[in-house]
Amino acid sequence: MRPEILFPLFAPITSLKGVGPRVAPLLERVAGPIVRDVVWLLPHSIIVRTPARLGEALDGQIMTFDVTIDAYERPRGRNQPWRVRVSDDTGFMTLVFFGAYGDQLEKRHPVGHRRVISGRVEDDRYGRQMVHPDYIQAPDKAGEIPQVEAVYPATEGLPARRVRAFLEEALQRTPDLPEWQDAAWLTRERFPSWREALDRLHHPLNDGDLSPLSRHRRRLAYDELLAHQLAMAQRKAERRREPGAKVAAGPTAAKLRADLPFAFTGAQERALADIRDDFRAGERMSRLVQGDVGSGKTVVAMCAMADVADAGAQSALMAPTEILARQHFETISGPLAAHGVTAVLLTGRDKGAGRAEKLRALASGAAQVAVGTHALFQDDVVFHGLQLVVIDEQHRFGVAERQRLQAKGQATHLIAMSATPIPRTLELTMYGDLDVSRIDEKPPGRTPVATRAVPMPRLDEIVGRLKDAVASGAQAFWICPLVSESEVSDLAAAEMRAIALRKIIDPGVGLVHGKMTGAEKDAVMADFADNRLSVLVATTVVEVGVNVPNATIMVIEQAERFGLAQLHQLRGRVGRGARESACVLLYDPPLSETAQQRLDILRRTDDGFLIAEKDLELRGGGDALGLRQSGLPDYVFADPFAHRDLIAVAGDDARLVIARDPELTSARGQALQVLQELFDWKAGLALRDAG
Ligand code: ADP
Ligand code: MG
Repeated sequence: MRPEILFPLFAPITSLKGVGPRVAPLLERVAGPIVRDVVWLLPHSIIVRTPARLGEALDGQIMTFDVTIDAYERPRGRNQPWRVRVSDDTGFMTLVFFGAYGDQLEKRHPVGHRRVISGRVEDDRYGRQMVHPDYIQAPDKAGEIPQVEAVYPATEGLPARRVRAFLEEALQRTPDLPEWQDAAWLTRERFPSWREALDRLHHPLNDGDLSPLSRHRRRLAYDELLAHQLAMAQRKAERRREPGAKVAAGPTAAKLRADLPFAFTGAQERALADIRDDFRAGERMSRLVQGDVGSGKTVVAMCAMADVADAGAQSALMAPTEILARQHFETISGPLAAHGVTAVLLTGRDKGAGRAEKLRALASGAAQVAVGTHALFQDDVVFHGLQLVVIDEQHRFGVAERQRLQAKGQATHLIAMSATPIPRTLELTMYGDLDVSRIDEKPPGRTPVATRAVPMPRLDEIVGRLKDAVASGAQAFWICPLVSESEVSDLAAAEMRAIALRKIIDPGVGLVHGKMTGAEKDAVMADFADNRLSVLVATTVVEVGVNVPNATIMVIEQAERFGLAQLHQLRGRVGRGARESACVLLYDPPLSETAQQRLDILRRTDDGFLIAEKDLELRGGGDALGLRQSGLPDYVFADPFAHRDLIAVAGDDARLVIARDPELTSARGQALQVLQELFDWKAGLALRDAG
């Protein structure tokens, strides 16, 4: 239940003076539906009102003058303004007022009186003027004119000035709230109180006060981060209280590993050990296994599934596409069968008797492992005893889809696998409610992909080399640029490229793009995987995780337009076999400095975690676009880059609080409850209801 102290902040914006049926939708668009959202608007700039003499007035500047009212001049015709001549002993100026209220003006500001005026100076052919001054005050009230003013986002029909007026009122209604931060931490960071921080946010003294690094902004960011981390820590604690089936490490996994032609990397060992600790704990596991493409996540999952089979229960491995599901099945079914564990493959293609047979095997428990696509969570798929769900490329599935599969068992354990390495700070913000294992080590013996940046004018040379390589049996991906926001022109560019390449390299140039159905894409991908196509032209839809060991060349057009992480992912499609591989980053010169740096990083390293850190650094906090898409919460104050130090502290703080005071009943705990209500955390986390 919401504490009473927060009621004024959760009142609808229509409770603010002047917010009626016309203004409300506009203000809601700018801020949000409640008073709190208005208080949470961030000023994007400031106006400094420089006090000056009229003789110093500068065209276009916002300035404040102490003047005497000299004369009123009536409008000369319809739609003409009132003009008011003012002066000081260094010069004069005309104040211009449209609208027929000159008589009232004259009453309020009579001729011969002194007034302090503030607004934008304009020089036009009538001379120096100020149209509708922002402020006109008697000298004794001049203190009400701010020297510095915050400027807020506006919208059509709602100028920034009115937004600020609403904001001031909202701020006045904002109560002091009990301090929820640790006193020692506040002192150490010299943070202001929450209320003081808001005051400073809206009454900045200089540009520095707009910086995310200013003390008040850091304070507000920390509040937000702590609220979020607390929510995730609570969820994690709750999940841990849910009992899960205990699974012992069985003999089959050891036999499978003995059969493998390679030894596990240290990181694979650690990931499997993490999973087995979870299995032993008697709690429900929700573990994210993060590791680059090719880092060997699948074999780790296979061992976990073997343990579950040894315990007499079932596992399901779900992949986002049919081709991926089939590849997984081919990888694991043989080795499992060699030790008496039966796996079945279930995709949209299974129909009729064949499908019925597989369903029977799952329902009876004759099959211990199911590998498949979305077909796995269809209603008529019944398991005998599903205990583990493994989701490959977890971001490709919705929460509901995953839950439907998990719901086919009781308190099923979850392993989510992701081939998008993310920096630690983002890991905490995106997956703070999960346990995470990082596979941050590549299997040995991979030849790194030789990466080169080549300017577009040398396209012919690249195509020529590609032709030679294809003639000697190589296969290549050719990724087409994101020309525009419109899928249609992306498609056109890819089609044109395919046509152009066919003229030179034909036969064997295929095309996949986002407008094709899943089955159509799968068919082309399969042709490529089976070497019936030499070159695969694609928009960025190349399926993450697809294994085409014979593909050794990756060409990316307009590489400068892609994010680092995305380029890394694309490059990860090659270099999977023993043969030497190459990645060509085609760019339109000249490169911006950042683009240059990006391509350089890519040439220097193929460590996905390092690349992700650098990516975040190069984007800074400004361009959060790619980050948002990757499931980052929509923070108001916190910036995952500028406040990355705070994210780590908030994570620790939250864990400690929940460990000591799980019900938040201490004095600080109660204040923290107010904080949580204040933020009313509703960010859509990819795995937030991980079960
Ligand atoms: P991921 O799913 O993480 O992209 P995979 O599990 O598909 O990676 O592994 C990629 C390839 O590397 C597979 O062919 C796999 O057999 C192989 N592999 C996995 N672990 C090792 C290892 N420790 N040493 C050598 N090769 C490995
Ligand atoms: Mg994989």
